[in-house]
Amino acid sequence: MSLSTILGEIAQEMAARTDRGQVADYIPQLAAVDPDQFGISVCLADGTQQSAGDSATPFSIQSISKVFALALALGRLGDQLWSRVRREPSGLAFNSILQLESEQGIPRNPFVNAGAIVTTDAALGQRPPKEYLAELLTFLRSAAGDEDIHIDRAVARSETETGHRNFALAHFLKAHGNLTNPPELTLGAYFHQCAIAMSVEQLARAGRFLAGLQHLIARERVRRINALMLTCGHYDASGDFAFRVGLPGKSGVGGGILAIAPGKASIAVWSPGLTQQGNSRLGTEALELLTRRTGWSIFG
Ligand code: GLN
Repeated sequence: MSLSTILGEIAQEMAARTDRGQVADYIPQLAAVDPDQFGISVCLADGTQQSAGDSATPFSIQSISKVFALALALGRLGDQLWSRVRREPSGLAFNSILQLESEQGIPRNPFVNAGAIVTTDAALGQRPPKEYLAELLTFLRSAAGDEDIHIDRAVARSETETGHRNFALAHFLKAHGNLTNPPELTLGAYFHQCAIAMSVEQLARAGRFLAGLQHLIARERVRRINALMLTCGHYDASGDFAFRVGLPGKSGVGGGILAIAPGKASIAVWSPGLTQQGNSRLGTEALELLTRRTGWSIFG
């Protein structure tokens, strides 16, 4: 069966689902998103791209941005980053503060919020946030081969207004000496990167470097980012995602997931309804169907 047939069938099956999960409602811009949308896009090693559903509709990439922030932070700091953030799954919600106190302000991994705030702080360095965000957008646009990728300013504003837990995390990190910038500066950069809007077509193209289909960063770093996506990319549902889908993946509360089939494909999927853990419900199901039908699971 051809990939375009598989994707068309998956989009059809997802359109018929009524159990779509809950759309994120902590900011009005996400609460207002129509839950009945679904899009999927796949970039292959031969340079072709196949998509189905609402694949050209931009959505808030939210925590998927943490993957690209990590790539930039590693480029800037190299392995020194690992003295500030660990590489273990947390087994806790993405915005949890619980482990930070008992673990002396060193977050478990770069994909929980605390770890992403440290990673963003490292990627930011001593530059104004504007400069870092410009670098991030340039990276995404060149990776996706598309200039039309922007920050949704209204989302960034709402994130700032409602981000009390993130402020708590950032101040806690600062108290432990694990933030080089003032908390509001690092968070300004963090909230704006969460507010980047992309379609699954753009996101799948932007993820090609992680699948080894485009050379943007060192191969060793790609391998490590994929390892972290597999073990930590879905927070306290990372084990379940590996079990069901079998690919490194990173989710965001906008309902997007970027999944990587090393050497084979970069896959982006989007459906706004979330599970309890804040991962796209139908996005995960669609990826499970896709890896079952293509045999792309890294576990054989
Ligand atoms: N902006 C959200 C936050 O910082 C991102 C969380 C997510 O996508 N999991 O809480």
